[in-house]
Amino acid sequence: MSLVKNIRKACKKSARERLRFPEDEARLKWLPLLLEAYSIIDAGVQHAINEVEKEKTQKRKLACGKGCGNCCSTHTDIPLYPLELAGIYWFCTEKMGPPVREALKERLRLNLKAARENQKSCVFLEIQNGGGSCSIHPIRPVSCRQFNVFGKRCGPGEDPFFTRRGDVLTPIRQYTDRAFLVMLPFYGIKDEAQKAKAVKDGLIHTQVMNLPSHDWAGLLKVMEEFDSR
Ligand code: SF4
Ligand code: SF4
Repeated sequence: MSLVKNIRKACKKSARERLRFPEDEARLKWLPLLLEAYSIIDAGVQHAINEVEKEKTQKRKLACGKGCGNCCSTHTDIPLYPLELAGIYWFCTEKMGPPVREALKERLRLNLKAARENQKSCVFLEIQNGGGSCSIHPIRPVSCRQFNVFGKRCGPGEDPFFTRRGDVLTPIRQYTDRAFLVMLPFYGIKDEAQKAKAVKDGLIHTQVMNLPSHDWAGLLKVMEEFDSR
């Protein structure tokens, strides 16, 4: 089977098996788009990892795993798109329970107070027992999903993109394009020809924000309003 056919099949399979929140998805029309896009990204990441790991001459294994979060403290550029932002607001406000919720609200308060006083870690990173975990893991952005490293785990402050680019996973473009295509109706692009052109022209990338420098005051406000109902 050709690579294109394989990718198409993997995308369909991942869309069938994706995370589901039926009540929320019926209310929030954009949510299925985001969940489907993320399932495609995850399928693409797995495909790319398998390709690297099956390369016998190199014997490279994925280093990323549970409790490993140095990358979430090191990266200062984490692309974030408007639909992803909507997903984060929804998840944090409506799905996140205690004690993770209280801890996030506290970090958001500190983050605002410190006014980026060289605040290095991502505000969504939970640091526990010397390890780190993402408090929005099911809804984390595409860029976080796609950042994977082989060989050894990243050291504190290390950005392997600069120290050992060869160990950083290169995502398979077709999956990324397909995921962004799925998200396009959120941006008002519904016509198939327009969608294909928008992906080709990289239109969605004109909407990009940066997660670490984003002003999260609005999220804290929305979470507090939800809690006081
Ligand atoms: S990118 Fe580096 S720090 Fe992040 S999970 Fe993978 S090995 Fe760990
Ligand atoms: S959103 Fe999650 S995975 Fe991404 S940088 Fe923040 S803590 Fe890490």
